[in-house]
Amino acid sequence: MLSLRSTVRSAEPWSCAQALAALPKLFTGELELADQRSLRAHLNSCADCKAEYASQSHTASAIARDGRVGRAQAERLARRRKLAALAIAGRDFKPRLWVKTMVLPAFLIVMLARQSPRESFAQVEAEVGAYRLGERTLGAEHRPQRLLRGDQLLADEHTLLRVFDDGAELTLSGAGGLVVESPAERRYLLGAGRFEARGAHAFTTAFGVLELVSGELSIELTALGGRIELREGTAELTDAQGTCLLVPGEPLALGPDV
Ligand SMILES: [Zn+2]
Repeated sequence: MLSLRSTVRSAEPWSCAQALAALPKLFTGELELADQRSLRAHLNSCADCKAEYASQSHTASAIARDGRVGRAQAERLARRRKLAALAIAGRDFKPRLWVKTMVLPAFLIVMLARQSPRESFAQVEAEVGAYRLGERTLGAEHRPQRLLRGDQLLADEHTLLRVFDDGAELTLSGAGGLVVESPAERRYLLGAGRFEARGAHAFTTAFGVLELVSGELSIELTALGGRIELREGTAELTDAQGTCLLVPGEPLALGPDV
């Protein structure tokens, strides 16, 4: 009988009174598909009913937001929210895919390119005097020693120590010391001493992390303070206050009262 009624209904155009009476059922999904179609057709052709539909549809979503919502409608809303969430996730997924396809290979290429100078690992030698490498005492007569992560170097006041590889050089003049954090990345923890650096380095000091991107600089460090002078190139010091870009020719004082 129901299908017969809906067949009859869809064959006839809706009157405004019938359309208005049926509107709530449109929101609750109780209308037959054929009735839904013909009611929507009426709404599209009748401005008055369409206005009432719009007003009721606002009410319906307000009720839904209020939580007082039928099971069918709640499921519809939940499905719509899920779809919306999927759409957002989809939008997020694209850059991630892009990262995987483009950035990762680019990163690997850069890393491989950076690895080639690693073949010439950092070495240390005393041009003058003697130094301690871990447990050993070595002098100017010894061959350059290959540096490993964690190696400690200590020099006395008569020593000129040179840490070097193909692309960069770090010298320590006189008494002082340093620890090798990463020879491949040229990361060193600097103790007291007078250092000169050329080429890309990263230095950890008691007063901050100094990164020499390129160029040359000198560093003097004591237990109480120090001084960095960039001769040329780019370098920055990062400490608890933030990062400060060094200016060539303008020495930077380090210490507790700076
Ligand atoms: Zn109407």
